[in-house]
Amino acid sequence: MPRNTEAFIDPSAVEHNLKQVRRWAGTSNIMAVVKADAYGHRLDGCFDALAQADLLAVATLEEARAIRQLGAATPIVLLEGVAHAQDLCAAEALRLELVIHSRYQLEALQQRGQSPTPRVWLKINTGMNRLGVRPGEAKSMHTELSQLPGVETVCLMSHFASAGASPSTTKDQIRCFDQATEGLAGPHCLANSAALLTEPSAHRDWVRAGLVLYGVSPLPDQTGADLGLIPAMSLEAELIAINSVFAGERVGYGGRFEAPEDMVLGVVSIGYGDGYPRAMQDGAPVWVNGQITRLVGRVSMDMITIDLTDMPDAAIGDRVRLWGPALPVETVARWAETIPYELVCRLTRRVRYNINP
Ligand SMILES: *Cc1c(COP(=O)(O)O)cnc(C)c1O
Repeated sequence: MPRNTEAFIDPSAVEHNLKQVRRWAGTSNIMAVVKADAYGHRLDGCFDALAQADLLAVATLEEARAIRQLGAATPIVLLEGVAHAQDLCAAEALRLELVIHSRYQLEALQQRGQSPTPRVWLKINTGMNRLGVRPGEAKSMHTELSQLPGVETVCLMSHFASAGASPSTTKDQIRCFDQATEGLAGPHCLANSAALLTEPSAHRDWVRAGLVLYGVSPLPDQTGADLGLIPAMSLEAELIAINSVFAGERVGYGGRFEAPEDMVLGVVSIGYGDGYPRAMQDGAPVWVNGQITRLVGRVSMDMITIDLTDMPDAAIGDRVRLWGPALPVETVARWAETIPYELVCRLTRRVRYNINP
């Protein structure tokens, strides 16, 4: 029998979340961000739900190729464009819309003499200082892109550094964007999930929604369920041993946890080799038989130890849930000083995926 460390993915939750995104977005078009294998949810399993978006956004050529192999006609945009001129050939064969964030990418297109698709996306740096042309270069880049053979539409985009956390920074970025693009033709695309939820003035023609599609909240003080979303992933493992320790005994590598009293401990079949973070602190919530208990002791590669002292009915073989609808991944992430994005993306190949139809 295979090890029972499993992720359950619910595509109908993704479908529900996309509908919720449509309600929030109003008349804006939806770019569904499906990079990193649909944020670790496995793109092929959720594909029918995600392909109902107006456009799919990926980070790499390989991700785009995987979508084309699934056969949908939904347009695809490469969020970072192509970094090597020789990849323009593949981009053309796959009919990919390119983000142009640097002059070298425009020059590669000019050299080739043709855009792979009639729509291109000009990315402007409005303060995040990661990707994008300077605001002062937007007009000339826009003109040159518009003159490129095959280009019909130049979309104007930018990315927020602190949407959902700092409204004033986001408003500054919007102001910078509006100044840089004044008088330029083309649809606007600014909002990620957090701005979709908190900054209506950023909705514009296209919203780029990632995390919310998977039922997870990008906002620090609200869970997906609070927002009317349904978490699409639940991560489960199994109780493989139940042991007792006496007060004063230490648990796990480095003896990080010291039992303050006589305790019952459960050993669970999941560890950092499966993607459950080693950074997880003592006290992190874990679900067993409908009750929440806590992690005690350091996470090992294959196992964790949890407190079963007040759960006399727990038995070998019981299912243990690390996150999912009953235990928000947003909450769990905080115990490892990380964000839910990282937890859902980092499950390893050892975890078995079950896609519920
Ligand atoms: C990943 C990504 C997004 C999606 O962000 P969410 O917070 O998941 O909605 C949007 N835009 C860009 C440029 C991205 O790289």
